[in-house]
Amino acid sequence: MPDIIKLLPDSIANQIAAGEVIQRPASAVKELMENAVDAGATNIKLIIKDAGKTLIQVIDNGCGMSVIDARMSFEKHATSKIQTVDDLFAIQTLGFRGEALASIAAISQVEMKTKKIEEELGTHIIIEGSVLKEQNVIQTANGTSVSVKNLFYNVPARRNFLKSDSVETRHIIEEFIRIAMVNPGIELSMLHNGKTLFKLLISNFKQRIINLFGNQYNQRLVSVEQTTSDVCVYGFVGKPEYARKTRGEQFFFANKRFIKHAYLHHSVVAAFRELIPSDTFPLYFLFIHIDPKSIDVNIHPTKAEVNFQDNKMMYAILNSVVRKALGSHNITPSLDFEKDPAFDFSDPPKDKPIKTPTININPNYNPFNNTSQNTKTYTNFKNKNENWDTLYPEKIATSFNDINKIKPVSLTDDRGVLDINTKSTFIDNKVIQFRNQYIITSITSGILVVDQNRAHERILFEKYLNYLENNIQASQQELFPETLTFNPADYEIIKEIKDEMYQIGFRMEKFSKNSVVFTGRPADLEDLNIAESVDRMIENYRNNLSDLNQNKKTNLAKALALSAAVKKGKSLKNEEQNALLDKLFACNAPESNPDGQPVFKIIALDEIEKMFN
Ligand code: ADP
Ligand code: MG
Repeated sequence: MPDIIKLLPDSIANQIAAGEVIQRPASAVKELMENAVDAGATNIKLIIKDAGKTLIQVIDNGCGMSVIDARMSFEKHATSKIQTVDDLFAIQTLGFRGEALASIAAISQVEMKTKKIEEELGTHIIIEGSVLKEQNVIQTANGTSVSVKNLFYNVPARRNFLKSDSVETRHIIEEFIRIAMVNPGIELSMLHNGKTLFKLLISNFKQRIINLFGNQYNQRLVSVEQTTSDVCVYGFVGKPEYARKTRGEQFFFANKRFIKHAYLHHSVVAAFRELIPSDTFPLYFLFIHIDPKSIDVNIHPTKAEVNFQDNKMMYAILNSVVRKALGSHNITPSLDFEKDPAFDFSDPPKDKPIKTPTININPNYNPFNNTSQNTKTYTNFKNKNENWDTLYPEKIATSFNDINKIKPVSLTDDRGVLDINTKSTFIDNKVIQFRNQYIITSITSGILVVDQNRAHERILFEKYLNYLENNIQASQQELFPETLTFNPADYEIIKEIKDEMYQIGFRMEKFSKNSVVFTGRPADLEDLNIAESVDRMIENYRNNLSDLNQNKKTNLAKALALSAAVKKGKSLKNEEQNALLDKLFACNAPESNPDGQPVFKIIALDEIEKMFN
């Protein structure tokens, strides 16, 4: 047998190593911006084209590099930030592994211009796929500009793996926000395809958060501060009433580094226990300062995870400071410090009357008139029969003989011509609601017990999927349009799913930066809490992004169904109970809800008989 082990050529080894550090455009943004912060910049500009796929440029006014350093910076394990192993345990900078520029240069076309303030001229370097193409002397501003073009141009498999522009942009915005939040002393801007997404002036922490997330955050935040001999914790937590169904506004920074830490997250959430519903997340922006010796940041290639020497102590401290902050907030609910009038136009003055919104109603409007093309209310019923359940809720009929067979039999071509005179199987039977949670009735083979919440989830899910797949757009105008403001990342999601939301029946107009006015809702969901269901759609969409089995439509139909369905505990009228059963068994898959949980059970006759033997 010949020997078979070979050393990989440098080019392949570099690409493999690069893959660990740079997974997508957002990773390059993070590394370049962190380098600018480490270089002591007070002004950093991020310029992006096509979600970073074509261009990522970071321009800073930091310390710049000498000719030799500029060339060296692209070498593997080349860093100015640590020299000895001991330094690893006293890290004050964001970078230290010396991998980022080498990795980026291995998988893109990089152009760097850099100049130290004390030097006359700067250095210009072009590197493509780790190969130096050009190096010369140029006139350039103090500081450094790095342009990364055509990321993954030489790793097609990786490039193909990138998500849509809006998804990649969202990741970039997330990284930008993380760096911006913890560096309010740095002026920052972000431009995407020529459009300014952020322009942030030097400010304090609270103003920076407000500038990133919107003015309304001024009212939402409670300050947190505690210094012990080992650690200093400060920042803000959200007032309990602003806890959201969507994750995404939870930020920990350890020594100015954004970190993910499930254990510490738990400690904050635990401090909110009993103040917020269990399925919501409090918002928090917490900065931890700790001796670099007590924290290991070298456990993850992208440094997103860290270990504290004393995790338990951190847990206890965080939990107690957050509790304390919430406690003082409860005693003095209007606690609002650092109030900057420039950012405070969210609450109207108390002595001014609030103007009630007015509405215009068209008395001649006929909701069943297809031809009017009125997009404002029940619109575009492509096929009236497809919406029969909306139009004739009390007359729905299915006729099947035995529920055990499940399939409805006499709905002509499933949902085609509906004989509204056919009597429901259930109408003659006694149907009862048990504990405001189950609908119970007798069927030939036993007793049918239906979970009302899951049943309605299934019904709505199939209905919205049908809307989405068949381009039915049934919408109902809001009497009082509701304006919701999103954080920039969520706003990107809204942009991604807006067409589908339109088809389900939502009508939205852009209000101002990151705000949307909801002028219409799905036609038959009078009681829908718009904020909650939109939150849930965002959350669901975000969580399922990587799950290829769940396409966008299924995803949204499911999210809306879950948030709009009648909950347990809701008392239903007898007709509603009947309608629920009828609609359920007209579904394609009545057995389970969209999460795959069983919707009904049958207590078989022979089981009942056994009980009495
Ligand atoms: P690390 O940040 O881990 O040291 P990088 O590959 O990101 O590794 O950068 C290598 C070196 O290049 C840094 O240690 C720093 O000395 C220098 N460098 C990179 N970017 C800049 C910048 N924007 N301004 C000044 N120096 C920089
Ligand atoms: Mg770096």
